[in-house]
Amino acid sequence: MREIGHFIGGKHVVGTSGRTSDVFNPATGEVEAKVALASADELNAAIENAKAAQPAWAATNPQRRARVMMKFVDLLNRDMDKLAEALSREHGKTLPDAKGDVIRGLEVAEFCIGAPHLLKGEFTEGAGPGIDIHSVRQPLGVVAGITPFNFPAMIPMWKFCPAIACGNAFILKPSERDPSVPIMLAELMLEAGLPEGILNVVNGDKEAVDGILDHRDIMAVGFVGSTAIAEYVYARGCAAGKRVQCFGGAKNHMLIMPDADMDQAVDALVGAGYGAAGERCMAVSVAVPIGEGTADRLMKKLTPRVENLKIAPYTAGNDADFGPLVTKAAYDRVKGYVDKGIEEGADLVVDGRDFSMQGYENGFFIGGCLFDNVTKDMSIYREEIFGPVLSVVRAKTYEEGLDLAMSHEYGNGVAIFTRDGDAARDFAARINIGMVGINVPVPVPLAYYTFGGWKRSGFGDLNQHGPDAFRFYTRTKTITSRWPSGIKDGAEFVIPTMN
Ligand code: NAD
Repeated sequence: MREIGHFIGGKHVVGTSGRTSDVFNPATGEVEAKVALASADELNAAIENAKAAQPAWAATNPQRRARVMMKFVDLLNRDMDKLAEALSREHGKTLPDAKGDVIRGLEVAEFCIGAPHLLKGEFTEGAGPGIDIHSVRQPLGVVAGITPFNFPAMIPMWKFCPAIACGNAFILKPSERDPSVPIMLAELMLEAGLPEGILNVVNGDKEAVDGILDHRDIMAVGFVGSTAIAEYVYARGCAAGKRVQCFGGAKNHMLIMPDADMDQAVDALVGAGYGAAGERCMAVSVAVPIGEGTADRLMKKLTPRVENLKIAPYTAGNDADFGPLVTKAAYDRVKGYVDKGIEEGADLVVDGRDFSMQGYENGFFIGGCLFDNVTKDMSIYREEIFGPVLSVVRAKTYEEGLDLAMSHEYGNGVAIFTRDGDAARDFAARINIGMVGINVPVPVPLAYYTFGGWKRSGFGDLNQHGPDAFRFYTRTKTITSRWPSGIKDGAEFVIPTMN
């Protein structure tokens, strides 16, 4: 059995804790590898390595650091097929989806080529008599990222690219469910010219996460995953005095106004509700048609589309809508929610529970499910299912639909489909959700904007990628100077409150 270890100090390191976790091929249901789960000692060794390497990296000028990113982008393009294949094999998503996963991370690396500009400080000449003030942005030191299974290429890159471009050393603790691609990314960074020890991949579970959160030399932690763990990581990391940002779960609504282009809205729901088997934090899981007429027109067009979704293993070609769920546990959880939705009184219009993939009967496949007449009190509405299950909640008016999305505890993404400019503008201005789409179902901001949810979808005051990340991974030092140094009458400016 293949064993996946760690990548520390620029080398592959075999796990020594004696603990491992199974890595499946979700299409076949077979265990394909074992991933090592790091002990505290193994984590500490990685942090020591990172700490030793970081000062020289921080002293490397930002332009040279950016050139590593430039080369990394080339290598990602060179190895795109290889990365996508390894990703699909452990995650289950289709190959086009896997390439999208790599590309959305690559775009962040591309943005980080602008590090010299993004790291510039500020300067004020003559802030007092003979007094100048300037500020510089310095890296924090050793920082860490803890990432989820659903984007094993994109989210690690969202974390380590800006952190490293800023001059930090990085400890990546990826998901134990699909650990191969994060290690391949670390190899490519080394090939791109990154010094050893600046990007370390430590595989593990709660033990490694707790080790990161408690370690005094980890200065900042970026987490992405489910909300319960995000809250835990945020509380424990902050209590240890670290800078922490955590991004959690979602329940993304899509309002369909009576004037929406219904074909466009249905296309959008099929892609955003069922793509990647619904295992996306930006998936649309709640459709809110406004008015009974709109709801009836929607159901008439949507139902046959959901019945005819094409489900296949990634090896079967590129035209499938989605593949299997990531693990048997994920399959059981999603199926359990569908059972619960029926018990709670929702109408299951399309039932995908009995779907079986011919030749892949042990794979973690489930068909697309569609619920109508879902209400606010049901657990299938309140909780994140993270599977190919779409709930339709009928609203009588725009205000009722808006209130529904606003009163949900999650606030990651949201969309409205309409041709009415007033409604679109009102919606974008009033909604209390971080990422908004107008006739765009999955409004993932591009790399040069920031990505982050509100409410219980995001904790911490700065978001991921975009210029925010360059603030998160640096701290500002402000320097006040008197020129010429012998000048006397600047004293009252330097300590104004003492006069
Ligand atoms: P998860 O919370 O199970 O795992 C995330 C990370 O936390 C993994 O590295 C895992 O090893 C670690 N972890 C798990 N249990 C832990 C524990 N008890 N203590 C400490 N660490 C622990 O999430 P997942 O299932 O891998 O990913 C899916 C979730 O991530 C969904 O809720 C999804 O909405 C969310 N997500 C959010 C965003 C976003 O930007 N908001 C993006 C992608 C995914």
